[in-house]
Amino acid sequence: MSGPHTVIRHERWTITPDRKPDARAVTHQMKGEVCGEESGKDGSWKPPQTWALNHSGKNPPHHSYQRDHHPPLVHVHA
Ligand SMILES: [Zn+2]
Repeated sequence: MSGPHTVIRHERWTITPDRKPDARAVTHQMKGEVCGEESGKDGSWKPPQTWALNHSGKNPPHHSYQRDHHPPLVHVHA
């Protein structure tokens, strides 16, 4: 290691959902397991689900999906 290195004190941190009023909104997304194509991210489940139904209609072998939910997270002192 080069350069100065000083530990002032150790603190415990954790990651938790960000519930502040100005936090980014939760978003939802679907991803095709067969092809890896992804829907857009949306604040509601309905547009990603509609995308998946349309995707399966256009690509009959593509019937499995991964559903992702993207909550805002923040570091806080434990
Ligand atoms: Zn697909």
